[in-house]
Amino acid sequence: MQEPAPAQPETCSALLEPPRARYRRWIADRPRQVVLQPTTFCNLDCSYCYLPGRGVKTTMPLQVAEAVARSVAELTDAGGPPVRIIWHAGEPLALGRTRFAELLAPFEPLRAAGRVQHAVQTNATLINRRWCDLFTAHGVRVGVSIDGPRALNARRVDRAGRPAFDRILRGIDTLREHGLPFSVISVVGRENLNAPEALLDFLASLGCRSIGLNIEEQEGVNTSRATPDLHDTVGFWARVLAWSHAHPDAPPVRELDRLGTYLRMTRDGTRPQWEDARHDPIPTVAASGDVVLLSPELADTTAPAHDDFRAGNVLQQSLAAILADAHRLRYVAEFLTGLDNCRAGCEFFDFCRGSQAGNRYFEHGTFTATETAYCRSTEQALVLAAADTTRKDTAA
Ligand code: SF4
Repeated sequence: MQEPAPAQPETCSALLEPPRARYRRWIADRPRQVVLQPTTFCNLDCSYCYLPGRGVKTTMPLQVAEAVARSVAELTDAGGPPVRIIWHAGEPLALGRTRFAELLAPFEPLRAAGRVQHAVQTNATLINRRWCDLFTAHGVRVGVSIDGPRALNARRVDRAGRPAFDRILRGIDTLREHGLPFSVISVVGRENLNAPEALLDFLASLGCRSIGLNIEEQEGVNTSRATPDLHDTVGFWARVLAWSHAHPDAPPVRELDRLGTYLRMTRDGTRPQWEDARHDPIPTVAASGDVVLLSPELADTTAPAHDDFRAGNVLQQSLAAILADAHRLRYVAEFLTGLDNCRAGCEFFDFCRGSQAGNRYFEHGTFTATETAYCRSTEQALVLAAADTTRKDTAA
């Protein structure tokens, strides 16, 4: 395998390119999603959690939600697909249903007009009938975090160290009783990398709409544990591919779906559209109204050299105004250099398109870096597993 290029100084052409033009070459003008962090608090205390503020009870004031709604109205004024509002990190339901409903209210005219679509990522332990009614009333799509059957879910515990498994299943049962579709996301650490079939059988048995598999990463305050290596993750993805092949009626696995889309576009000649797709700036709005760009994981991170990645505050500026100035931020410019470096030196770039900003920073301390444990375990390993599978199928 070709080694990705180390971080290089910017090329002459990149240096000559005006910063705004360079930003627009890589980053979309209009976000497809806006992440809202209505509280950093979480009622669980998973051992791999990256959130430094998960024990602090912050609550997003109504004015912040109103400011975001005004911003999204401005962003969607010219039409286009709805903006996905993702309520995430720590546990959004820990806010309480009444407060959550108050924060949803400013978006209601936009939702009714088809200009926003809500989604919540939850540990499901607090879901009850009244939450389901709220999700139904506001068309909230639900994503549940669960790491597999009881033994594989052992690191999802509450603050007293008690397993959350039964409470998560109770929440999922309640969603099902109310006919609410949901997706699941599982964190796959070294412990459960060797049991993908048991993991996938279990997740499919929950009746979910889709499955996301997040190989454990080093980010935020989760930096001490060893993350899975390339060899292990190639084997993991090969078994996930085989499982998926053997279970055509099972819920789709998000990562395989993405690879499938890429291969389809390559086959039918529409791959230029894949290559033209620019990165979503993913504005992430903290309870205070502060906005970080590129990676939600950067929110709540102390980084004096980057002013804690603050791009602005929605109480002072609209998201459109913040994004119009994003090319001036040093960490954004560094990320663009990282993308140029990836394109110049990595054989996986065609598929990957440069992957996540946050992982570069958390692993290397700079956004100009290229290869990360995340891109090895998820982008590269998936491609290598698919290539191995194809080779074996052809040889058989
Ligand atoms: S982020 Fe993607 S393009 Fe960059 S080194 Fe990793 S796999 Fe290659």
